[in-house]
Amino acid sequence: MRLEKIIIFILACSVFQQCSYSQQTLSKIVIKDTMDDKKTNNPVYSNTDTSSVKLSEEEWKKILPANVYQIAREKGTERPWTSPLETLTAKGTYYCAVCGNALFLSDTKFESGCGWPSFYQPVSKTSIIYTPDNSHGMKRVEVQCGRCESHLGHVFEDGPPPTGLRYCINGVVLDFKKAQEIEKNFKKDKDNKSSGKEQ
Ligand SMILES: [Zn+2]
Repeated sequence: MRLEKIIIFILACSVFQQCSYSQQTLSKIVIKDTMDDKKTNNPVYSNTDTSSVKLSEEEWKKILPANVYQIAREKGTERPWTSPLETLTAKGTYYCAVCGNALFLSDTKFESGCGWPSFYQPVSKTSIIYTPDNSHGMKRVEVQCGRCESHLGHVFEDGPPPTGLRYCINGVVLDFKKAQEIEKNFKKDKDNKSSGKEQ
């Protein structure tokens, strides 16, 4: 109940405060919404299971929100500057919004000025799949989620050191989880395990 009150308060703030804080507040709402929705409506969503997920497009359509489906499964592109995650600087992990696979750490995020969330390195080599993309008369490299093969965006060779790469990712297909939340869950998990051992 208390959480609901907080959410209502945040919503009220975003409506009445059209100031520099509103963007930050909007980020919180989006983060809350995406994390909650995916867990309850999406049976394959997991931040810990790394086994590959293969569903038919029909099945994906049933469990994904329309905007996520359009970008992830139909290789769409969100309009630039529309994702609240583009300017987010909080510490944490960016997960695939389709399946929950860990994709990028906030430490590797940078301000590219291109209008989409940008990173110079994925979480691991297996978290991303690379595919040549010659559509729209351009030679690009498409990046897909290593677990569910959803379209995420493209990678370009004009990024900052140490990799020189720019992973240009649609914010719609990213879920962000704050470092504190991850630490809290990890600690809870650890406490449970250690108390189990003692008994
Ligand atoms: Zn995925």
